[in-house]
Amino acid sequence: MDKLLEIRDLHTSFFTHVGEVKAVRGVNIDLYQGEAIGIVGESGCGKSVTSLSIMGLVPSPGKVIKGEIYFNGEDLLKKSEKEMQKIRGNKIAMIFQDPMTSLNPVYTIGDQLMEPLRTHKNMDKNAAREKAIGLLKEVRIPDPERRLKQYPHEFSGGMRQRVMIAMALSCQPELIIADEPTTALDVTIQAQILELMKELKEKFNTSIMLITHDLGIVADLCSRIVVMYAGIIVEEGSVRDIFYNPKHPYTWGLLKSIPKVNMTSKERLVPIEGQPPDLLKPPEGCPFMPRCRYAMRICEQQCPGLYSVSGRHKAACWLLDPRAPAVEWDREGVSFK
Ligand code: SF4
Repeated sequence: MDKLLEIRDLHTSFFTHVGEVKAVRGVNIDLYQGEAIGIVGESGCGKSVTSLSIMGLVPSPGKVIKGEIYFNGEDLLKKSEKEMQKIRGNKIAMIFQDPMTSLNPVYTIGDQLMEPLRTHKNMDKNAAREKAIGLLKEVRIPDPERRLKQYPHEFSGGMRQRVMIAMALSCQPELIIADEPTTALDVTIQAQILELMKELKEKFNTSIMLITHDLGIVADLCSRIVVMYAGIIVEEGSVRDIFYNPKHPYTWGLLKSIPKVNMTSKERLVPIEGQPPDLLKPPEGCPFMPRCRYAMRICEQQCPGLYSVSGRHKAACWLLDPRAPAVEWDREGVSFK
């Protein structure tokens, strides 16, 4: 498999009137052609800012201050706005949590689906219309000819998200970035949308970057997971590594907060106590330290680098240092050995 996207040492900050908020602090991510990767973490961890940095859409007063983002070997950070406009929606498409923020309420679904086809693919009106009908069929919207003439408010939340997926697919992009695409939907529709994304990924061999706070939804769609916390990557590995052999206490916390199918009414989800650090003044040491029950003295003094666990499984935690006490995740809980 060829590498499609390579993010190297990405730093993105927001320059506010109270100081520099270091939202992304040295992120490295590789994504291969046809691969789906999940970027997981709670809000404010830098996952969405990472995706906006890829798209060249970091809102003011934000700015990428360091790093490289190679897409098919070309650094997107060196592209002009005009060049990025040719890439957005064409080679890289984005799906957002709330389709209403991306769909224009005053244009029909047909106009909005046809617009990128006419702009990026130079299709005439009839060809774009035919393609738009095909796309609506692809995302299983019934009666597509009639639906093309309707406005976004005439669609349900799930149907609007299907339209967004159709729009994202319209120019057959190599990469789709889906930022919390199912958060606003109920669980049944959520499952349908994820299943649809999975089918389309396989059919078109599109790479997917799924950004979510919910570790539970990535397992089915993604082969690899990157866990972010306070602007850095704290763990990454295959879905199997993260679910069956997690190494970072934050990942343990995320896993314990997912509902299980066989949960009894007496069992309770365990939230991660405390708050992430203030990224105006990121801590010198491990950013998870104030919330970590395994914290040691070194955790306060020095931020751990990513330790290799096996293959591409890595975690940034001093517990992986050979001198640290043995701590084992046993799926029911975590225990010292
Ligand atoms: Fe906890 Fe220390 Fe590991 Fe950070 S480095 S997660 S504080 S044990």
